[in-house]
Amino acid sequence: MLEDNIAAISTAMQPSGVAIIRLSGKSPLSIAEKMFKSKTPVNEFEPYRMYVGSIDGENFKDFGMCVYFKAPHSFTGEDVVEFHCHGGVAITKGVLETCLKNGARLAERGEFTRRAFLNGKMSLSSCEGLIDMINSESAAEVKSGYYLYREKLYGKIKEIEGDLTYVLALIDANIDYPEEDIETAEIAEIKGRLANAENRLSVLAQSYAVGNKAKNGVKVVICGKPNAGKSSLLNSILKYDKAIVTSIEGTTRDIVEGNREVNGVTFRFFDTAGIHDSEDYIEQIGIDRSKKAIESADVVLFVGDGSSGLSEIDNEILKQIDNKNVIKILNKSDLFLDGSKIGDFDIEISAKTGSNVKELEQLIFEKAGLNSLNFDGDYLVEVRHYEAICTSLTAVKKAFSAIGVMPLDVITIDIRAALVALGLITGETADDNVINEIFSKFCVGK
Ligand code: GDP
Repeated sequence: MLEDNIAAISTAMQPSGVAIIRLSGKSPLSIAEKMFKSKTPVNEFEPYRMYVGSIDGENFKDFGMCVYFKAPHSFTGEDVVEFHCHGGVAITKGVLETCLKNGARLAERGEFTRRAFLNGKMSLSSCEGLIDMINSESAAEVKSGYYLYREKLYGKIKEIEGDLTYVLALIDANIDYPEEDIETAEIAEIKGRLANAENRLSVLAQSYAVGNKAKNGVKVVICGKPNAGKSSLLNSILKYDKAIVTSIEGTTRDIVEGNREVNGVTFRFFDTAGIHDSEDYIEQIGIDRSKKAIESADVVLFVGDGSSGLSEIDNEILKQIDNKNVIKILNKSDLFLDGSKIGDFDIEISAKTGSNVKELEQLIFEKAGLNSLNFDGDYLVEVRHYEAICTSLTAVKKAFSAIGVMPLDVITIDIRAALVALGLITGETADDNVINEIFSKFCVGK
């Protein structure tokens, strides 16, 4: 039953200037009437106006504000009331408790947004964008979340669905005629629409490679022999001393990790134990972990010590990372008295003085394939969306290649499958399991 009044604290539970307690349902105003006293009685409230007055808490009163959002023009599509009280933890809890005593039920995780979805105010992908925005740690995540939240992906899906449903209608209209009687122009129209849908789906599927990194960050692993300057480089990039730097080999025995935002994207840097043959058992474990980290890296930074030249160990490491996405860095350029030594390297830096480290960051950004990152957040970020797009794309391709080979009614099976897959993104064909899973990621109060 959707109409029961739900209540929750919508702001973080910590001492703060203001906290918001939100109510939604059939009659949140009847609860507000019992709890809020102002010059204008609650039953005379104009929607979307803030009123100042006293709010009842448990055994206390606060002085704050109340606002009423009238259905269906509210976040949930139902009547909504918000109390804006002072953001003390006891005050906030007390106001919520009083809402519950007056007949509201505590909202479940994401229940306000779920109601917005069920009331047709938001698509499922828009809800996912909202949670992405709330959980975001980088500007790129906010942008891609906003893109979903504002129904930009939904709009694209609807356009593709438009082509596919048009094709279905054309086929349906011709289904009773023998194949040879169907106008060539209509076959061309069907092919054109399917090709259009295929194109758009392909572009979306390809955008996931960038979108995934924008959302989840880029893993960058720093490797090289001991003393090449890996820890110094990590510290220089992070701009604080995260890793211990000494001239004693084998100081970094385990992986040291730190994040840095470059052009709005989170880069996760991993400084590994210097790879070399070690008799030391603990150090060997660190070296094995380094090798594993390299395996899963998006970009590998190989650091060579420019003050001593490349050794056998360096060549061995380079061989091991041959199939990876590597940037070869020649470090300690401040010691090159006789000018550049770049040779086979991509960039010369000094981790000690910071020379060229900014340029290196840009190079890492490019090497991660993020040059095509468009800053409107216009890419797929959710694996769920990517899978649905791929399923839809496969079905559309199958339908296209079957034209002229299979009867038209057989082709409709693939087109309908493509539409079902797209409906998973908007939520129109998503089952309860998918929907529950998405809303379980929400906090209570959103
Ligand atoms: P790691 O074992 O590869 O992590 O190397 P470290 O970062 O611990 O550095 C080893 C030694 O090289 C330390 O004494 C650093 O101060 C020194 N070092 C690192 N980078 C540079 C650099 O760019 N220039 C100079 N002159 N020394 C550096």
